[in-house]
Amino acid sequence: MGILTVANLGKSYPSAGHPLTVLKGVNFDITAGSSVAIVGPSGSGKTTLLGLCAGLDRSTTGNVVLNGVDFNNLGEDERAKVRNQYVGFIFQNFQLLPTLTALENVMVPLELRGETNIKARSLALLDKVGLAERANHYPTQLSGGEQQRVSLARAFSNSPQILFADEPTGNLDTETGEKVEQLLFDLNKDAGTTLILVTHDLELASKTERIIRLKSGEVWSDEPIALQHGQ
Ligand code: ADP
Repeated sequence: MGILTVANLGKSYPSAGHPLTVLKGVNFDITAGSSVAIVGPSGSGKTTLLGLCAGLDRSTTGNVVLNGVDFNNLGEDERAKVRNQYVGFIFQNFQLLPTLTALENVMVPLELRGETNIKARSLALLDKVGLAERANHYPTQLSGGEQQRVSLARAFSNSPQILFADEPTGNLDTETGEKVEQLLFDLNKDAGTTLILVTHDLELASKTERIIRLKSGEVWSDEPIALQHGQ
């Protein structure tokens, strides 16, 4: 069994009239340390799937098992604990806390874990993404690319075993997007962090080891990129 197992996963949202079913029996198993892209047309359920895998939301049917823990058996608070322990998440629109500086945003997960030496470690993380000199800036004083790099530093701060990224380069210009991409793949290679990203950028997807393609809430194809990685 891998680090993440998704079994018969289904999700319906309440909607006027009858529920809207957006995921219909999705299955896959992710190997620890691998990199995977989830692709598919808009509305095919990619973001919903990522949120369920990260424990941000609950499924309607089926199971998500992360590191041997089945989210179905956990309440909201326990899911939050698992997230804080194992999971990093990067959103397309960054989702930094607007009233906190870049440094304070990065410190939040470490504070939640009750860790020590938080400030110095957070500064080191900002330095790693090339933003040490922006530590005391607020999100509104940063460009989109800088905000995304702060959100990367925040996601890295709990040394996650698995990092989920929802269109991490979707709002960035090409050059900045490439920098962010590099940081994600460096983390995957150097720290062995499992990387699962949702993207509509097929060039980015082709840099991962495996592409899972969704269509109308179902897995349409699921293939390793064997040639690219010489396997
Ligand atoms: P994708 O990421 O592939 O574009 P999403 O998972 O965002 O797909 O959305 C799949 C479908 O679920 C869409 O029709 C969307 O409108 C619907 N949807 C997503 N989130 C919600 C929600 N919180 N409530 C109701 N419908 C939602």
